[in-house]
Amino acid sequence: MKIKIFSIIIFLLFLILTCNGEIHKDYPIKPVPFTKVKINDNFWLPRIETNLKVTIPFAFKKCEETGRIDNFAKAGGLMKGKFVGRRYNDSDVFKIMEGAAYSLSLYPDPELEKYMDNLISKIEAAQEDDGYLYTARTIDPENPPLGAGKERWSNLGLSHELYNVGHMYEAAVAYYMATGKNNFLKIAIKNADLIYKVFGPNKRHGYPGHQEIEIGLVKLYRVTGNEKYLKLAKFFLDERGKYKFKRKFSTSSPFSIYNQPWYMQAHKPVIEQTKAIGHAVRATYMYSGMADVAAITRDNAYINAIDRIWENVISKKLYITGGIGSRREGEAFGEDYELPNATAYNETCAAIGNVFWNHRLFLLHGDAKYIDVLERTLYNGLLSGVSLSGDRFFYPNPLESDGKYKFNQGEVTRKPWFDCACCPTNICRFLPSLPKYIYAYRDNIIYINLFIQSEANIKIKDNKVHLIQETNYPWNGMIKIIVNPEIPSDFEIKIRIPGWALGKPVPSDLYSFLNQVIEKPKLRLNTLIQPLNINKGYISLKKRWNKGDIIELILPMPIQRIIAHEKVRDDQGKIAIQRGPLVYCFEGIDNRGKVLNRFIPDNMNFKVKFHPELLGGINVLIGEHKGEKLIAIPYYAWSHRGVGEMAVWLPRKKYKRN
Ligand SMILES: [Zn+2]
Repeated sequence: MKIKIFSIIIFLLFLILTCNGEIHKDYPIKPVPFTKVKINDNFWLPRIETNLKVTIPFAFKKCEETGRIDNFAKAGGLMKGKFVGRRYNDSDVFKIMEGAAYSLSLYPDPELEKYMDNLISKIEAAQEDDGYLYTARTIDPENPPLGAGKERWSNLGLSHELYNVGHMYEAAVAYYMATGKNNFLKIAIKNADLIYKVFGPNKRHGYPGHQEIEIGLVKLYRVTGNEKYLKLAKFFLDERGKYKFKRKFSTSSPFSIYNQPWYMQAHKPVIEQTKAIGHAVRATYMYSGMADVAAITRDNAYINAIDRIWENVISKKLYITGGIGSRREGEAFGEDYELPNATAYNETCAAIGNVFWNHRLFLLHGDAKYIDVLERTLYNGLLSGVSLSGDRFFYPNPLESDGKYKFNQGEVTRKPWFDCACCPTNICRFLPSLPKYIYAYRDNIIYINLFIQSEANIKIKDNKVHLIQETNYPWNGMIKIIVNPEIPSDFEIKIRIPGWALGKPVPSDLYSFLNQVIEKPKLRLNTLIQPLNINKGYISLKKRWNKGDIIELILPMPIQRIIAHEKVRDDQGKIAIQRGPLVYCFEGIDNRGKVLNRFIPDNMNFKVKFHPELLGGINVLIGEHKGEKLIAIPYYAWSHRGVGEMAVWLPRKKYKRN
């Protein structure tokens, strides 16, 4: 009898726990997986296809040429030779593999899968018996490369041992999801089990200098259900800022900045941090990891911290292109309002990290302001990172160029590759995952966040809904959505009304439109105009939906002049131009060779004209005033027609530049 009661109590406890588990299992809002969304537009689809056909094979080839792949073969005893390259080169291979896995989910390709399996067998060979994987050490443990540390994990601030494997976990999970094969996943699990055995409370302490393993561990937790990976992610986050740094910093050391606590967001415990400081990519990966852990554990201290830091970035440290991390030195965030244009660093990876982070904040809070930032970053400071051809890249993304300063690692234009190849390989994995940012759902609510022509199959609580979105965004703002529920039923569709369409370029006072928006967005449901009741950036449509219901959204796209907060010194007296989600720039080639001596008078009239043959097909803006003419193109498309001057911000009045 006692046993029976005991069993009932245990069962009830289990029910309570799993019920809570259901609610708290992960983000309250879920993205519609990218495998359920088919993009078929003229803007993003060609880019995703170029990524698949050009960028991914190109990046793999570069990894072969630069010894990145041979490093695995050497560590596995499959070939002889020394470690070649930097200690974080393993991560580049993992990131391309993650991108290839996403592509395989969308477009099965036996040849690519074979290539991946072959690569995985090399990685398996490179893994030591206990699970350790870091070719930089395994090839010749007596002589590890600069920064790797003498012994395993002895130099975590610089070694990237944990960073590399974080990328491996992400890639392995992606490959498992794409193919159902566990050949890569088992390598990742074996490694994560070793890390768990070594690190933790009452075990070895420490944290990675470059965050990433936290995100990877949460993905491993999601796919395996094993909580120890989640705990380990939280452990690494909570280790930051716990210790007083006793190490002496030598200014003559090549690593003098790179080992500073502020640089790696370890100046304070993560929950006490209030501002974005240090290396911008590390920061956004950390905030994303904190969001992931908090989504599952409901750790409010984490959420409060990243909310505070977000306010700091959005109101003081964000470029109009969505770029972040203004300082070249340390690839870092600057002080509040420190947003120079010509020397803006704005690493492509930081833009990608900004998208990761803002997407997660949306999934936590359900507010469209995060998607406003995500969209701005996506169409501007992120997309500029890769050429239209798919095989040239920007590492930094400045907002001004004199055509001479070699801002892009020794070049004035995009380059095929970098010694530190984080940006090209991040593009590889980001683009094929783009469909997951368009739609989301929660219970019986569907969120439409991005306007990209596509079809989606969305499973909500009580129904399955097929959505067809037709649009020529970002070139115009006409959006038609056909709603096809499997059975007629009641649910809610929330449609994002972008901040820029309501007179707010960003959710802060950092930038504002000079001219007020006159024409308001319009929304029709089955031809009936709907009131513009906007809550958290969404218009909500609640009704019994039937097959073939049609939503039409019209977002007027006037040419908008933007001014910056008065404390942004570099933008004073200047304006930038935006139309729809796109920020524009002026290039010398369109403007008689020079733009840095030009200005945009307030009464200059701009017209828009679509040029199908130019730069993959773009809207060009043509401004004319008293015989003066200025031509602007979307910022993302700059630097495709030779080297020359470029500016996003131009003065409103003629003045002498110093
Ligand atoms: Zn990068």
